Amino acid sequence: MDLKKLADALIPDNDLMPLEEYEKIYPPRDLEKGAEVTRIAPSPTGFMHLGNLFVALANERIAHQSGGVFYLRIEDTDDKRKVEGAVEVIHKSLRYFGVNFDEGADKGGNYGPYYQRRRAKIYRAFAKDLICRGLAYPCFCGEEELEKTRAYQTEHKLLPGYYGEFARCRNLSEEEIYENLKRKKPFVIRLKSQGNAEIKHTFKDEIKGEITVPENDQDVVILKSDGIPTYHFAHAIDDHFMRTTLVIRGEEWLSSLPVHIELFKALGFPLPRYGHNCSLQKTEGENRRKLSKRKDPEASLNFYREQGYPPVAVNTYLMTLLNSNFEEWALKNPGAPYTDFKFSVGKMGKSGALFDVAKLNDISKTYFAGISEKQAYTFLKTWADEFASAEEKEYFANEEYAEKVLALIMGAGSKKRRKDFACAAQAVKLMSYFYGETPEAIDAQRFDGDTLKNVINSFMRTYDEKDDCSAWFEKVKQAAAENGFAADMKAYKAAPENYKGNVSDVAEMLRIALTGRANTPDLWTIMQILGREKTMRRLTAAAK
Ligand code: GLU
Repeated sequence: MDLKKLADALIPDNDLMPLEEYEKIYPPRDLEKGAEVTRIAPSPTGFMHLGNLFVALANERIAHQSGGVFYLRIEDTDDKRKVEGAVEVIHKSLRYFGVNFDEGADKGGNYGPYYQRRRAKIYRAFAKDLICRGLAYPCFCGEEELEKTRAYQTEHKLLPGYYGEFARCRNLSEEEIYENLKRKKPFVIRLKSQGNAEIKHTFKDEIKGEITVPENDQDVVILKSDGIPTYHFAHAIDDHFMRTTLVIRGEEWLSSLPVHIELFKALGFPLPRYGHNCSLQKTEGENRRKLSKRKDPEASLNFYREQGYPPVAVNTYLMTLLNSNFEEWALKNPGAPYTDFKFSVGKMGKSGALFDVAKLNDISKTYFAGISEKQAYTFLKTWADEFASAEEKEYFANEEYAEKVLALIMGAGSKKRRKDFACAAQAVKLMSYFYGETPEAIDAQRFDGDTLKNVINSFMRTYDEKDDCSAWFEKVKQAAAENGFAADMKAYKAAPENYKGNVSDVAEMLRIALTGRANTPDLWTIMQILGREKTMRRLTAAAK
C-alpha cells in the first residue's frame, strides 16, 4: 500500500510543518542539571477536584525546589466535557491556593500554545507521520460495532479493547479503505500497536517504585473523528515538546502507561520519568473509598473557597498527606511556610491517602490562632465580599468594631489562643451575636420566666459600663444574692439545697439573654463591645 498516499488522503492538511521543525521551535530547555520540568494538565470540566490541587502542589514543589519550571496546560480535547467558564475556574482555584505556575495557559511561555485545541496541527503532523511509517491506520468502526465487540468480550471474559482479532480495521485492504473514504464514512486514526501483552517489563515509577508493566497491544485511538487527539496522543506529544522531565499525575493513569510507553517509542521521543500519585480516599463505615465528586462536597476545591478555609491551611494539610515526613518537620518548625520544607518524590505515599476533614480543621484552627485579629479581618472580609449573605457582609463594614469582636472570639493577646473556628463560614457564625437587634437563640434559658426577669432586672439596676471586670463581677454576684442564688461557690457547694443555683447560673442567664448561647468568650468583654445601649436593650427584651 502506498502509505504516503494514504496519509495524504486521511490528513490532507497542506500546512503541516516538517517534523524536525518542532524540535527547533521547542528545543530542550536550558536548565541546570537536576532541574525538573513539571506540569498540571487539568481538563476544563468546570470542576476542580481536591485531587487536582493535591497533584498540583507536588508538581509545583518539585519544579520550584529544583530550580526548574512548572507549567499549566489546559487539556481541552474532549469537547463533550467542556464547560463555559471552566478555564476561569481553574485559574481561580490555582490563584486562591497560591499555586504559581511559570508558564502556561493565559500566561504565555516559549513552549505554547498551552491549550491543546490550539495545537491541532502538531498532532496532525505526527499522526500523519505515523501513518506514513505504517504505525497508524484509519478505523471506520462505528459505535454500534464497537459496542458489539465490547459485549462479546464481556460475555467471554476477555480483556476489553481494540486489539488482536478485534482490531477489525487493522488489516483493511487498500480498496476497502478508499471505498470507505469515498462513501465519506467517518473514521478515527488508531495506533498500529507493535506490542505483545504477554511480555512484561520492569518499570521504575518515581512514587510506586519498581512495578511490572505489560507491553501495550491495544490499537488505541490517537486522532478522533473530528481530527482532535485523544489524551494519550496529546500527552506524548505535549510532554515531549514542552520538555517535561517528570510527569506526576493521578494513579488512575497507571493502567494507560503501557500505551504511553509505546506511543513515545513510536514517535521516537525519549520517555519522561513518571510518578503516579495515590488517590485521596475517605472512610465510609468499615471501608475506604475514593473521595467522590458526586458524593462528597469536600471533594470540590470550590468547597474550600466557599467555606473560607485559609488556602495555606489546606495546602499544609495536603502536604502532610503528600510527604510522610512533613508533619514532623512542621512540628519542629512552627509557623514556617510549607515551602521551606524539603519536598521529596521518594517520600510520597505509594497507596491511598486518607483524607480527614477533622485534621484539616485542626490545622486551620491552629492557623487562625497564629494570626492577629487584623489579619483575620482582612481574610474574612475578602471571603465575605464573595460568599457571605448580605447580613454577614455588614459585619465587616465597621473595621474597628469587627476587630474587637475578632480579638475576643480568637482570644487574641491571651497566652492560650482560642481555636473555635476553622473557616470563615464558622467565624461569621461566632461573630453573629454582635450584630443586629436580637441574637439568634441557639440555647434556651434553663430557669423560669419570673426568675429570669428578676435576675436580669437586678443586674440592670446596677450595671455600669465603666466598671472593670472585677467590679462588674461583684454586681453579678449581687444579682445572684438578691434572687436566692449563691454568690459564693464554696457556700453553694456546702449546701446547694439552700439556693436556686449559683453565680455561674446567673452569668449563664445574662449570657443567653445577650448572645443567645450558653457558651461564649468572656461576658464582661462582650458587654463592653456591645456597648451600654445595646446591652440594656437586649437584657430588657429578654426580661419581658
Ligand atoms: N487531563 C488529565 C486529567 O485531568 C491530565 C492527566 C495528566 O496529568 O497527565 O486527568
